[in-house]
Amino acid sequence: MRLLLIEDNERLRDLTRKQLQDAGFAVDAVGDLDSAEAAVETTRFDVIVLDLGLPDGDGGSFLKSMRKRGNATPVLVLTARDGLDDRVAHLDAGADDYLVKPFAAPELAARLRALLRRPGQALADRLSVGDITLVVAERSAQVTGQPLNLPRREIALLELFMRRPGRTVTKAEIERAIYAFDDEVTANTIEVLIHRLRKRLSDAGSRVSLETLRGIGYLLRDAGT
Ligand code: CA
Repeated sequence: MRLLLIEDNERLRDLTRKQLQDAGFAVDAVGDLDSAEAAVETTRFDVIVLDLGLPDGDGGSFLKSMRKRGNATPVLVLTARDGLDDRVAHLDAGADDYLVKPFAAPELAARLRALLRRPGQALADRLSVGDITLVVAERSAQVTGQPLNLPRREIALLELFMRRPGRTVTKAEIERAIYAFDDEVTANTIEVLIHRLRKRLSDAGSRVSLETLRGIGYLLRDAGT
């Protein structure tokens, strides 16, 4: 899941980015509204975490103008203010949720998952395709009940496929969902990642396989059906 974090405090930004990466998000982090505008213009994010006090303006006005332009990406507002009026104002301005600073990373990750679960977003906590099960919050996967240990990107890739069972996933979709702007993605990065995941599934004896549809993309197929 591709996430944009907008936070000007460098320490908090780096820490939150790391924690959200550990929770399985592909995180792009920016420190001001100019960079945030540029990011949302070029990339479709699954969810946005927005600080309100930013050096070049107010996060609230960014949110309003984003909504005015028809961008419906779920937004969680980070606020140091805990007044009821402020919260109501943020929600009225188009925020989907808010969290008062200081916050605990597991709570932020849980709130974000809840936002992504809302109607219209095909999300669930526990995904299951054939003999593979994936528990989203734990970033853990199993094949016929046996743990399948996967590095962060491979589990993100598996999650992406399991959310689109029986559907073709293109390289562009994989790149968007799994890699952030500052990640190096070369022509064969995704092929290598696919190859690794495919090997792990077959080594684990799964009857689910990752098929290549040449020139189109990839498909997770359950041989048992
Ligand atoms: Ca701030």
